[in-house]
Amino acid sequence: MTTKNGQAVDVAIIGAGPAGLTAAYLLTKSGHSVTVIEKDPVYVGGISRTVEHDGFRFDIGGHRFFSKSKEVVDLWNEILPDDFIQRPRMSRIFYGGKYYSYPLRGFEALRNLGLWKSTCCMASYAYSQIFPKKNVASFQDWTINQFGEQLFNIFFKTYTEKVWGMSCNEISADWAAQRIKGLSLGSAVLDGLKRSLGLNKKPNDGMETKTLLETFRYPRRGPGMMWEAARDFVVKGGNRVLMNHALQQLSLDAKTGRWRVATTNGDGETVVINAAHVISSAPVRELVGRIHPLPKATQNALDLRYRDFLTVALMIKSEDIFPDNWIYIHEPNVKVGRIQNFRSWSPEMVPDDSLACVGLEYFCFEGDGLWNSSDEELVELAKREMATLGMCDPAAVKGGVVVRQEKAYPVYDDVYKDNVEAIRAELEQKYETLHMIGRNGMHRYNNQDHAMMTAMLTVRNIQAGARVYDIWQVNEDAEYHESGDEGEKAALASERLVPKRLKAA
Ligand SMILES: Cc1cc2nc3c(=O)[nH]c(=O)nc-3n(C[C@H](O)[C@H](O)[C@H](O)COP(=O)(O)OP(=O)(O)OC[C@H]3O[C@@H](n4cnc5c(N)ncnc54)[C@H](O)[C@@H]3O)c2cc1C
Repeated sequence: MTTKNGQAVDVAIIGAGPAGLTAAYLLTKSGHSVTVIEKDPVYVGGISRTVEHDGFRFDIGGHRFFSKSKEVVDLWNEILPDDFIQRPRMSRIFYGGKYYSYPLRGFEALRNLGLWKSTCCMASYAYSQIFPKKNVASFQDWTINQFGEQLFNIFFKTYTEKVWGMSCNEISADWAAQRIKGLSLGSAVLDGLKRSLGLNKKPNDGMETKTLLETFRYPRRGPGMMWEAARDFVVKGGNRVLMNHALQQLSLDAKTGRWRVATTNGDGETVVINAAHVISSAPVRELVGRIHPLPKATQNALDLRYRDFLTVALMIKSEDIFPDNWIYIHEPNVKVGRIQNFRSWSPEMVPDDSLACVGLEYFCFEGDGLWNSSDEELVELAKREMATLGMCDPAAVKGGVVVRQEKAYPVYDDVYKDNVEAIRAELEQKYETLHMIGRNGMHRYNNQDHAMMTAMLTVRNIQAGARVYDIWQVNEDAEYHESGDEGEKAALASERLVPKRLKAA
């Protein structure tokens, strides 16, 4: 193993995802010297990268570019002035071999479910109203009480369990109670069914006719295009983005007050960067384990958990299988949770007009059976499941590619908040020049715009020479709230809702 010393820079940045590259872009613009280290050998963009294979492009999860923050939107336009396209948004639910609009439309639901099943749904709803469960602890209890067991099984149970990897019995009821989207889905289903069966003659409240087609903005070659443009700007500005360089060790020299950032590349070569500030968008668990000496809160970091994710892209000799951007799969007899249709995101994602290209998304835990399956096994699974769903003949599949995304979702369990708080308190108190930003970098389940806003405010803090902005006050709408009671309340109230595991389970 060889060691070489890199340059001394103003700021070392860990991770070339949206957060890290936003920071690098803004610091380059303001004339700072920056080195970004990125562990991926090829792609910048992190979870928002676009993976390419023989001209086909895959987006991990499907990234709509939407933000309530003008500052973020302005920065998107600045980085990528000419390459946004406006796309129609369409997504439906697939269950029992049928597509259901979202929100549900009454007659469509009746036609799809059939008279018998619709009647059963209404009967089970009526039962749940007359005999509600008394001790409502779980997501399952709560949802059955609201909508009846049949609707719970069709529209809530399977998908929720696929995404979160736990039974609806284990998920706390609070989450269901707060989940406004779920409520509107359930209400729409009930309203639709009541109307179809003639049990609700009230004028439609607008839910049924609400348009399903809104539009969103999207870089024409996928989200990675944004982050490749940001990287190019950084490099053109004389700064470095070192690919295939994972963080190895981080330590502060007490004498100089500067950081020593040691990174290894794929060849085992160690590069040492000397920096006045370090910005980290690496997962909190990973960062803490690399700080020397280890922080007291190391155990808190080890206790943080993640949900992982993989996409199996299939190229199929066919016209597009459905027009939607993505479809939620509520079928219990397949493992796939969602299917992306890449051409619907942008025609430039699929270079061959004679082929459709879909991405089957599987939610998993690193190290479980799905994650450990070989690429060949996963492509076979995806082909089989497409056939089970009746969506395509396996013989029509011309190729398949697997894209794995570790730590796609930071898990919010009973203890994550206390753990993150302990880590944050210790690191902020000990190290004024170490800054944690972004999604896994702060263990916050949020979108690109939020990750970017935390980077933008961190850059301002570095420029000001003090923590003027508390980036933990950025809410999921990428809005910044001043600290203090009101700010804290606002930030908490709008924090994205994710299920909590019941303590007993
Ligand atoms: C299924 C899914 C759908 C989504 N849909 C949307 C959407 O529609 N719109 C939207 O705006 N957002 C969406 N998001 C969220 C979005 O992907 C993230 O918010 C965003 O990518 C977070 O940016 P980040 O830079 O904080 O982290 P990341 O994207 O995770 O980037 C972190 C980077 O750091 C690198 N890294 C990690 N550890 C190290 C290390 N030790 N050394 C060096 N480098 C390291 C990683 O390789 C990565 O490149 C979605 C996410 C998922 C999972």
